[in-house]
Formats: sequence, structure tokens, C-alpha cells
Amino acid sequence: MPASKAETRIERLLTFEEARACLGSQAELLCKQPREQEQVPLLNALGRTLAEQIVADRDFPPFPRATRDGFAVRSEDLGKIPAELKVVGKIRAGGVLPDGFTRLNRGQAVSIMTGAPVPSGADAVVMVEHTQRHDDSVRLLRSVAAGENVVPQSSEACAGALLIERGTRIAHSHIALAAAVGNSKLTVYSRPRIAILPTGDEIVSVDSRPADNQIRNSNSFSLAAQVIAAGGDPVQLPIAPDEPQRLRELIGHGLEADLLLLSGGVSAGEYDLVEDALSDFSAEFLFTGVQIQPGKPLVFGRAHTRRGSSEWTYFFGLPGNPISTMVTFELFASILVQALSGSSSQSGLHGTKARLGNEVRVKAGLTRFLPACLSGNWDDPEVDPLKWQGSGDVSAFARANCLLVIPPDREYFNPGEWMTVLPLQN
Ligand code: AMP
Ligand code: MG
Repeated sequence: MPASKAETRIERLLTFEEARACLGSQAELLCKQPREQEQVPLLNALGRTLAEQIVADRDFPPFPRATRDGFAVRSEDLGKIPAELKVVGKIRAGGVLPDGFTRLNRGQAVSIMTGAPVPSGADAVVMVEHTQRHDDSVRLLRSVAAGENVVPQSSEACAGALLIERGTRIAHSHIALAAAVGNSKLTVYSRPRIAILPTGDEIVSVDSRPADNQIRNSNSFSLAAQVIAAGGDPVQLPIAPDEPQRLRELIGHGLEADLLLLSGGVSAGEYDLVEDALSDFSAEFLFTGVQIQPGKPLVFGRAHTRRGSSEWTYFFGLPGNPISTMVTFELFASILVQALSGSSSQSGLHGTKARLGNEVRVKAGLTRFLPACLSGNWDDPEVDPLKWQGSGDVSAFARANCLLVIPPDREYFNPGEWMTVLPLQN
């Protein structure tokens, strides 16, 4: 008979930074593993992870490009201002110079439009606003430095240069760049399958009419949404009761995915059976709690996919309270989902600073991530925590647009203090 949780549990309570570092090092290992790839139409690659290198198919720009409408000139001709030059041609974007024109000579200018190739011999463009045209000549009212209003050939990238690295999460700017160098399809890593296993006798399906003592299964849906946003493919498993055998059976299914996310059943209560059930799969617990609020009972480790198998699957035992579930996914589980999707950058957390609107008092000891509202001007933002009834208050969380980060070493924070906030995507 397996030993009970009370006998086997070795508490591994980490600080926020230690837990993030633990995830970071596991993610680094995962990144090195080979993974499946697929080719998708360019637009479908948005949010996916690039599995190939994108290189410049030619010089960028392919010619010295005018960045203003005006006159292409030899800057040395404009030593004395105003200067008078002979207009010997006209070139627009996509156009060509007149037959027989080879090079701009001394005393000459070419009328030129934004995006057009600057003819050889010319080294600058004078903006049309600083000129007066008279028949076939132009009067230039300002001098220019060599190179002004011209982007030199290949200055953005030489043919063959690496433009987007393998492992990059594709954003709209990468879509633009891939299109610019001629890719109507991209090779991306296949989405990792992320199993989601809700637990708890009181949890019922979203479609059911719950009895007074029952709770609808919102965690499976919040987690599935977060998994999709992090680049994974959610696999929603049935609700596991607080009963060892069925729980074990469903954990077995979950461990066949690339990552297993359990919700609930990881606190110290009599019916919190998740850790015991995982122990049956030779689970190695990398931590069993993090000094944060919400989400302290967070469990992370790896377990054998099947009895006797040498393959490991990582799992998270996320605390069941819905806010704890969502916050711990964002702070920790998202790192592994991103790594499993082939992404080489694992942070995912992009904090910003905002002034505290009203004082905050807390007990020291935990790093807190409080649902909060970021308001005010974009260049002078203010943050205030929302009133909430604790980590089960889904409606308060839905009104939050950020998490206010409260460091663990102080109890009082003044109005006007600059605080770190983590913007939420909702
Ligand atoms: P537990 O972590 O199992 O002690 O659960 C903590 C709290 O979260 C309890 O109030 C549960 O009812 C609630 N909870 C657990 N699982 C879910 C779920 N899948 N959806 C919504 N609430 C949940
Ligand atoms: Mg429970």
C-alpha cells in the first residue's frame, strides 16, 4: 500500500523568485528537445512559434531609397544657398529614369518621390518644401548633408541576413517581415497538448444547474483560454471527484499529454488527494508551495507517463480557487507552455510601473499579486487594488486589468509610490 501524503510529503516552499528560476531552468531543458513542426499559411502563424529561420531574400532596401518627395541632388552642389540646378528627369516609386540617363552630373537634379530609387551620382534628397521649380530648373533654398533623406541600399539587411530567429513567437511585425521577404507560408512548431484536469466533489459541469453546495467548473475554461493564449492546445478532461481511484485514472490520461494542469485538491485538507495520487506515478515534486498570494499551495513536478515508463511529463497542481488558478498559470505554468511550443524566450512577464493611488497595508512575508485597476494617462498611470473577497472572487478579477505586485518585505505602501504592475490581457 502506498504511503499516505502525511508520511511522504516533503514540503518545498519556495519564494516567488526561486519558483520562477526553477521553472526557467526546466523550460530551458524542454526547449532543447526536438518537437514536431508543420507548415501553415502566413496569417495562421500569428501567435505560433517559428520553427525555421527567416532570411533576407535580397538587399533591403534593394536600392538607395528616397524617404521624401523632392529633388535628388549632389550635396556638394549646394555649398552656396540658394542654388540653381537643372532638372534632368523625374522618378517615382516603382518608376524608372528616362532612357539614356546613367548618372546625375554636377549642376543637375532629378525630381523624385518617396520610395523611388535615388539615381547614381546623387547622394541626398532636398524636400520639395524647400525648393522652387521654374520650368526645367529648380531653386534649392536649403543645403543638405550627404545621405540626408536617403536610406542606403542594404542598410536594413543584406541579402542572406538572418531576420527572424527560430523560436520566435510570431507577432504582427514578424508577419510583415516574413511577407516582405516572400514567405506566404511559415514552418511553425506544433502546438503542445496541455491536459486540464479539474478536481473536487463539489465541481459540476458548466451546463448543469448546480445544487446550493455545488460550484460550476470555471477553472477548466479559464485555463483552456490561457493555454490557447500561451500557444498551447488545451485538452479538457472530465471532472475528477475527490476519490483516489478515479482521480488516478484521470491523472494517467493527463500525463499522456505534453503537460498536465490539475486544479484543486492541493491544499492541506483531508480531501486534497492530488499529491498522493501523483505519487503513484513516481512523481518528483520540484516544489509544493510558493510564498505568494494568491496561489500559495502551488505544486510543480514531473511524473512518469505510465507505470514503469522512463518518460516524464511535467505537471502543475494549481490551487482550485479560481483567481489562484489564473494567477499561478500566468506566473508559472505559462512558462512551460511557451517552452513546449518551442519559444526561446520564456519570460512572458512584462511588468510596468504605476503610481499607487491609495495606501496599501499588508502583512509582510508573501509576494502578492493583487487584482488591480490601472488608470490615468498612459505616461502617468495610477494603480489601485480592487476590493475583492479573496481568491474565489471571479467577478472582481474580471474587472481587473492588471496585477499589482506587492513585494514581501514591507507592510505599508504610500499613496504616490511607484509600484510594479503586470498588465492582464483581458
Ligand atoms: P481546493 O483547492 O480543491 O481546496 O478548492 C479551493 C476552492 O476552489 C473551493 O472553493 C473550490 O470549490 C474552488 N474550485 C476548485 N475547483 C474549481 C473549478 N474547477 N472551478 C471553479 N472553482 C473551483
Ligand atoms: Mg477540492
